[in-house]
Amino acid sequence: MARSNIEWTEVTWNPTTGCTKISDGCVFCYAQPLSLRLKAMGLEKYRNGFKLTVHPDELKRPYTWKGSKIVFVNSMSDLFHHEVPDNFIKQVFRIMNDTPQHNYQLLTKRAERLTKIADQLIWSENIWMGVSVENEKVIKRIEHLTNTPAAIKFISFEPLIGPVLSLEDYINELDWVIVGGESGTGARPIEKHWIDSIKKVCHDYNTPFFFKQWGRKKFNINNDDPTMNTSHPFHAKGGCQLDGKIYREMPVIEF
Ligand code: SF4
Repeated sequence: MARSNIEWTEVTWNPTTGCTKISDGCVFCYAQPLSLRLKAMGLEKYRNGFKLTVHPDELKRPYTWKGSKIVFVNSMSDLFHHEVPDNFIKQVFRIMNDTPQHNYQLLTKRAERLTKIADQLIWSENIWMGVSVENEKVIKRIEHLTNTPAAIKFISFEPLIGPVLSLEDYINELDWVIVGGESGTGARPIEKHWIDSIKKVCHDYNTPFFFKQWGRKKFNINNDDPTMNTSHPFHAKGGCQLDGKIYREMPVIEF
């Protein structure tokens, strides 16, 4: 378990590491340079750098955590990558099924594989299944997600690099929406009207809306946003206020 700086989770668990890029949202994937850095530092888990690697020795880790955790599964990979064997995905699900004290958040861009394997998995209520969608071009990922029986289905529009036009077609089946801008060198800008239109659909349908970050200060239309400041309790990259408010809505869960 590693404590996470990601605003919408508590800890990360990586039973697989490494990945390959599959769409525009992957261009500046943070996991790639980080994996290579961890390899250079000599971490055994990252001996293969960013090459997809399964870690059976990680499977029992959730049993060692005290209390209830919100766990982001595979912050450094994609569990539904074609090189991850079906059997390994099933084992990860079995561990999640067997540790109901924790809530697990999974995010994938391999939504087609998710649909294909979904009926071979047990969907206990502590599993939150999400897809990453960077623009309208990959909106079909949401359709695949809605074909799963996950108790909580969510979308991460991060990095949002284009408008999303058809969220309303799916919103009734969604439990949570996250939006964030891209950060780092070369980051592509997020535009306020893209964020506003997603927020409006969420609020029209009472779906929790979480605005994570603008990504870079220069994308934030409010130069005085106090959350740009690293000393602010809700500091995020480039700030996270929208029209003077912070949106960190979450699905309601029971512990
Ligand atoms: S799917 Fe995720 S982990 Fe894999 S390359 Fe793309 S951004 Fe990185």
